[in-house]
Amino acid sequence: MPVPNLDFDLSEDERQIKDVAHRFAVEVLRPAGQALDKLTPDEVIAPDSIFWDVFNQYQRLGFNDMDAEMDPVAVARLRCIISEELGWGDSGLAVALSTAGMPALLATMVANTELMERFPANDLGCWAITEPNHGSDMIDFNNRELVAGSEHSKPNCIARGEGDEFVISGQKSAWVSNGPIARSAALYCATETADGLRGGGIFLVPLDLEGITRGQPLKKIGQRALSQGEIFFDQVRIPASNMICGPNDYGLFTDMTLCMANGGMGMIFVGTARAAFDLALEYARERVQGGVPIIQHQSVKARLFTMYRKVEAARALSRRVSLYNAASEMPALEAAIAAKITSTQTAFDVASDALQIFGGAGTSQEYPIEKIFRDARVSMVEDGCNEVLALVGTDRLA
Ligand SMILES: Cc1cc2nc3c(=O)[nH]c(=O)nc-3n(C[C@H](O)[C@H](O)[C@H](O)COP(=O)(O)OP(=O)(O)OC[C@H]3O[C@@H](n4cnc5c(N)ncnc54)[C@H](O)[C@@H]3O)c2cc1C
Repeated sequence: MPVPNLDFDLSEDERQIKDVAHRFAVEVLRPAGQALDKLTPDEVIAPDSIFWDVFNQYQRLGFNDMDAEMDPVAVARLRCIISEELGWGDSGLAVALSTAGMPALLATMVANTELMERFPANDLGCWAITEPNHGSDMIDFNNRELVAGSEHSKPNCIARGEGDEFVISGQKSAWVSNGPIARSAALYCATETADGLRGGGIFLVPLDLEGITRGQPLKKIGQRALSQGEIFFDQVRIPASNMICGPNDYGLFTDMTLCMANGGMGMIFVGTARAAFDLALEYARERVQGGVPIIQHQSVKARLFTMYRKVEAARALSRRVSLYNAASEMPALEAAIAAKITSTQTAFDVASDALQIFGGAGTSQEYPIEKIFRDARVSMVEDGCNEVLALVGTDRLA
């Protein structure tokens, strides 16, 4: 018996887009993600890697390029549907593909047509915010969680205003998604403007400029299709017009970025949780022990139902938050954080339960569950450790 689809109110267009996204997840993302998982980080991004084929196919679907003229709530509905399917296919690739549109998204947010042309939605971008000495510190950008009496150490990356240019020096952390391969960056870093203002700033930076180098792609436990690595800046000059915002608006823009990033993670990892549930359900119907399919054993039944209700609950929250934030002038960061934490924790819990239902087979690389489990584990640190995000969220409620 199929699991009921509770999306009773999808329009015909939404249903068709869901079908396209699901087909892409089944035929392209899932097999490519499994193949890339077995490669070294260098092989994942080598010129002949299947990653590039996935990226090109995704760009042809136009999923990163539908915001400009549509109603924001209609866009948010589509994003929920698409992101869940991408996360169902492969979470590492889902993050790589979604993050690619980050510079274009910022240019669109400030309605800067020149930047929109120079940083188009089909580019391969990244979000460079965290630094070797500032991981959680950058996520807690308003310094709400500083320990009393302490202060942050010196920034690892700084942009200094010089006339009508900024000169960027320093580096971003090894965790920048798409860092080794991105052609452009949405760079969030310490800033001194030409007129003496100090604080944070956001810049769009082409990554082929003189003075930019990359670190080795990171070797990691999960989401291995997502290439991550450092970006180094040695006296890199960009025009001042590449600035999205300076110190005065940094808090506001970073709040909004974190809303988008956490909202996106919420949607993607509902898909990852659903993938683990689907696989466990299928396996439980087929695997016979004690003379019957294991789904007939009471403890397996109870476990499966817990997984089912957690996936539905995470989706309900994640969609509710996305639609609210799309409809509101000032999105609710605490709600986006709640969605991110709920979905990623759900993906991890459901993947862990799925692995248990698979028994010994769950621990084997011959089956897809151990990979989903590793992918989900990473998500609880990605875009902010869940416990730090919870502190930031609570400060908004206090
Ligand atoms: C898969 C993945 C993708 C990522 N993508 C990007 C990206 O695209 N761009 C980018 O710039 N970065 C990216 N990151 C980096 C990510 O945002 C950071 O890893 C995360 O914010 C944590 O920072 P950290 O690793 O330096 O850990 P730390 O900040 O050193 O934290 C270590 C531990 O200390 C705890 N801790 C730290 N500070 C506090 C505090 N104030 N109060 C309480 N507890 C605290 C944390 O909860 C954690 O358990 C990514 C990371 C991963 C894993």
